[in-house]
Amino acid sequence: MPDYEVVIGLETHIQLNTASKIFCSCKADSWVDPPNTNICPVCTGLPGVLPVLNRAVVEKGVLLAAAMHADEIRPVSYFSRKNYFYPDLPKGYQISQFDVTLAKGGYLDVPMPEGYARRVNIHKLHLEEDAGKTIHEQGRRLIDFNRCGVPLVEMVTGPDLRSADEAAQYLIRLRQLLRWLGISEADMEKGQLRCDANVSIRESGQTHLNTKTEIKNVNSIENVRAAIKVEIQRQIKEVEHGETIKAWTLDWDEDSGTLRKMRSKETEADYRYFREPDLLPIYLDDTWRDTILADLPELPLERKARFIEQYDIPAYDAEILTEERSLSDYFESAVEAYGGEPKAISNWMMNDVLRLLRERGQTAGELELKPAYLADIVRMVNENTITASTGKQLLDRVQDSGHPPMEIVEGEGLAQVSDDDSLRPLIAEIIAGNPKQVETFRSGKTSIIGWFVGQVMRETDGKANPQMVKSLLEEMLGG
Ligand SMILES: [Zn+2]
Repeated sequence: MPDYEVVIGLETHIQLNTASKIFCSCKADSWVDPPNTNICPVCTGLPGVLPVLNRAVVEKGVLLAAAMHADEIRPVSYFSRKNYFYPDLPKGYQISQFDVTLAKGGYLDVPMPEGYARRVNIHKLHLEEDAGKTIHEQGRRLIDFNRCGVPLVEMVTGPDLRSADEAAQYLIRLRQLLRWLGISEADMEKGQLRCDANVSIRESGQTHLNTKTEIKNVNSIENVRAAIKVEIQRQIKEVEHGETIKAWTLDWDEDSGTLRKMRSKETEADYRYFREPDLLPIYLDDTWRDTILADLPELPLERKARFIEQYDIPAYDAEILTEERSLSDYFESAVEAYGGEPKAISNWMMNDVLRLLRERGQTAGELELKPAYLADIVRMVNENTITASTGKQLLDRVQDSGHPPMEIVEGEGLAQVSDDDSLRPLIAEIIAGNPKQVETFRSGKTSIIGWFVGQVMRETDGKANPQMVKSLLEEMLGG
């Protein structure tokens, strides 16, 4: 039985997070709004209306193209009409880009958990409008036009991915990048990032492309992974039984974990594309392009590499700290404010700040616990001004009150007790009050010293310096 190589290309639709739609001033994000409340004559295609292009759509598209390392961001590109009939497409055509699109080429390097990186080439990147939504309910078809005219970028990869897991990793990195750039919320469950997968197999060592099938309607990264796995197994079984693979479009049923044949695929010629006569070309002159690209941030993988290099933190830390842009910004600000070992900040962020973010459902940029406050807390712990447990409590206290940590420490006397004069009398008292435990210690079971340390810490509300307590106890118990 031959070995098979899997060949996957992904077609993604990315909903840009502009305030208004692509060709009218209706609100673009109507995820929570009642059906047909964000519509107008333009996006419902009434006769005599004219579309006007939303500038922000072009700007977000250009940012994405640049982040995908496009070979060219075109100074002139065009919209075309893609003609087809569907109840939720009121104009009878979709305005899209076809032959001369916003950008050409590009790639995304996707690091895999196994350690290698897969370069995924971008074959198509263009702007278009979304269609409406058809809801099937009790044998009726209900049409919601809210989504008509919502701006999308369609991005198609080359047949470069080699497994369901690689496809999932590509989507994880793409989602990270879109959020990082601030151009899409990229939530698959809300349809802000949609993915169709083209899947084929071939005998290992072959280079030609066999007939592919297209999997549609998958609404999470885990479902993309599962659907592709099912389809690979189906294709192998067909081929082993001497059958040929037909170019089907398959629908993923999440509940049963199975694929269903929707229709045989239509070809592009069916759409009868022609240039949109109601819109001017997009003229992207150098000044405008340069203004847009001035906002292009350092990308996640570059930033991760720099963190490892510049701050000398482990790759594991750098990966987590660059998962999200505001977390990266937070880390760098805290390191700068701290001035000491960056790894100390990284430790506190990975353990405590991430916990805080999870509990509060916030991003790092929204925290009351500002980076400089975190730096203050870490510094006070490292200088033994406060104990580590006081430090951890302070994180929440600062977050709740917004007060600087030093102010709370001074105001409430939280500073660690590490002076001889206040600890000695307390220890003497505890020794005097617990003759049985003292006897145990003096008979040679010195491990009971931990119990004494615990008593002192309890009496001081955790503020005593534990090392100092231990050495004082050794001295005083031994006497
Ligand atoms: Zn509208």
